Amino acid sequence: MTRNKSFKDNGPLLYLIATPIGNLKEFSFRAIEVIKEMDIIAAEDTRNTRFLLDHFGLKKELFSLREHNEKEASKRLLELIKNGKKVAYMSDAGYPCISDPGYYLVQEMIANNIPVSTISGSSAFINALVASGLDTKHFFFYGFLSKKENEAREEISSFKNFRDTIILYEAPHRIIRTLNLLKEILGNRYGCLARELTKINEEYIRGTLEELSQIEEESLKGEMVLLIEGNKEETKTSDEQLIKRVDYLTNLGLTKKDAISVTAEEYDINKNYIKKLILK
Ligand code: SAM
Repeated sequence: MTRNKSFKDNGPLLYLIATPIGNLKEFSFRAIEVIKEMDIIAAEDTRNTRFLLDHFGLKKELFSLREHNEKEASKRLLELIKNGKKVAYMSDAGYPCISDPGYYLVQEMIANNIPVSTISGSSAFINALVASGLDTKHFFFYGFLSKKENEAREEISSFKNFRDTIILYEAPHRIIRTLNLLKEILGNRYGCLARELTKINEEYIRGTLEELSQIEEESLKGEMVLLIEGNKEETKTSDEQLIKRVDYLTNLGLTKKDAISVTAEEYDINKNYIKKLILK
């Protein structure tokens, strides 16, 4: 177990700073304040980060940490932090680590007992989810499907029975392929395509997968999040399943009465109904 207070005694700390997903006005006061205090800003793409910092009049030393050098760069940053440098990491858009680099960097900090703290901002999937109209109580974020069709098929098949809203990131040139695969494997469910969030061309397209897949690809440019409703088919618990569960629990050592109560609670079924089944 490790237990880290983020802001204790001004000690070593890594900040992960969320950056705007489009509209630069979403960069927070706190993000700007923290950047001012840093010695080094590690960035997924130093050119993009330079542009962002210039926009806010911030001049900082930049350090590249991207997908292809993440492990070595994380070790180097660890050394810099241990040597007293104040370091923050920013990916190109939204939160680091969310379909973006940063995971190994965080692992490296945790392994060395260095606190990690996040500076909040927007993430494309959260923006998309809250306005999608789909179930927001329970959701499953997957990010990008494989570029290879056979692998993407397997991935989608593994979501088939999920009851929660499914959230994917997708590139515009693969969106029609993905909509067709989803329709074929999950059935014609309801979905929402959220494009160009926080930008001037922001758009939410809500409809069935069949309807979404008919949209002209040309009109689906830019960045996008695809949300699909979870499996809403009624799955009726069979009597046999209930009897098996009671048997299983009694074999574990529960009394029959307790096994019936637990099963009733687990399946949200009336206790007397299960009792009658057992007595039959
Ligand atoms: N770290 C980011 C986050 O927290 O959302 C995600 C980075 S991932 C490399 C980029 C993908 O996020 C895009 O291909 C798109 O699917 C989604 N995305 C990013 N910005 C978006 C926007 N403004 N509107 C819609 N989707 C966006």
